[in-house]
Amino acid sequence: MSKKFMKVQRIEHGTVIDHILPGRAFDVLRVLGISTDRSMSILINSHSAKGGTKDILKIEDVELSDEEASRLALVSPHATVNIIVEGKVVKKFNAEAPVMVRGVLSCSNPNCISNQNEPIQSEFRLSLDSEHRYVCTYCQRDIVDLARRIRS
Ligand SMILES: [Zn+2]
Repeated sequence: MSKKFMKVQRIEHGTVIDHILPGRAFDVLRVLGISTDRSMSILINSHSAKGGTKDILKIEDVELSDEEASRLALVSPHATVNIIVEGKVVKKFNAEAPVMVRGVLSCSNPNCISNQNEPIQSEFRLSLDSEHRYVCTYCQRDIVDLARRIRS
């Protein structure tokens, strides 16, 4: 049996997110608040030309903003964002993890004041001593598994 590769159709207008950490495509959709009933292609554990695997998302008719791209970096740092208009890449950039995250994540400490129905927004700062770790402003707890802390 010959090996067939599925060819993913190119999109005319929308966003292609490449180099997503393998298995993280659905976390990316969740952190962006993009519903899976939209028209999109999702590649999971696709073989990368550079070796290893990656996920790829092609979302039609959505142009990701810089703010959204930084939110995406919470679950998959260094993913590449390509904005496509009329079949051409008009903007290409890397998703950079934000220094400060407000409201998007919830603290893993149930006793944290941000989990007490107080009128305050959760707030986390990117730790300076580690590549990808956030610290709660209120209780100083580390948030390591960011994908699990995304507010729905
Ligand atoms: Zn906290």
